[in-house]
Amino acid sequence: MIDAHIHADTRAYEDFENMAVAGVEKAISCAHDPLQMSTSDVLFDHFNRILENDTKRAANNGLKLYVALGIHPRSISPDFEVVLDKLPELLKNKIVVAIGEIGLEKASKSEKNVFKRQLELAQDLKRNVIVHTPRTNKRDITKVTIAMLEENIDPSLVQIDHIDNSIVDLVIDSEWVLGLTVQPQKMTTDKAVTMLGEYGFDKFVLDSDISSSPSDPLSVPKTVHKLKLAGFNERDIEMVSNKNAADFYGI
Ligand SMILES: [Zn+2]
Repeated sequence: MIDAHIHADTRAYEDFENMAVAGVEKAISCAHDPLQMSTSDVLFDHFNRILENDTKRAANNGLKLYVALGIHPRSISPDFEVVLDKLPELLKNKIVVAIGEIGLEKASKSEKNVFKRQLELAQDLKRNVIVHTPRTNKRDITKVTIAMLEENIDPSLVQIDHIDNSIVDLVIDSEWVLGLTVQPQKMTTDKAVTMLGEYGFDKFVLDSDISSSPSDPLSVPKTVHKLKLAGFNERDIEMVSNKNAADFYGI
């Protein structure tokens, strides 16, 4: 199984062992907003921690960690241009499989600017993006996000994440990969099973988004378990829990 969106830097060492024991073989750890980004150096230290430290902590437990690097909408430093300048070089690292997570939280002018610049960069470099959708004012902000994606980037490069019942109708006809985040306070395993039953397995990838918010490192295996109990076939379950993410990220 692949967990297509986690924040390894926020989690205990033991979580990785539990994930591996439950059958999660690979995960993608996304850059986010762990600290106040007073300067770009804080964000670079965060990137380094994921690349150097968390990949080892996961590997020691049998979990292969891949990485997404980018400027989260809640972590825009005053000198964010420095980060945009350095990103192309950082993306050359073989374990970096996407620019992310990026997107809009409140759709402020500054957020839109930084999001657009990263979409343009991804389009230029033909790199995948992992796109956040917020918890608050989700539908309205997602509409703005969608308009920017449609304008700035090839759909084959996009994973849009944290899809739930409030926005699934906006994205289901797109060509994007749809991240189904199974997380306490966001979506239960049962709701995820219902959504997949209704909308099909072709476009979705499962993720836990484990972070410092309430989270379950076993979200993906638990959802797979529920899908099996509900009688869905092996091929569909394999697609949503492994193949779709493996194909999209080339991992
Ligand atoms: Zn996240």
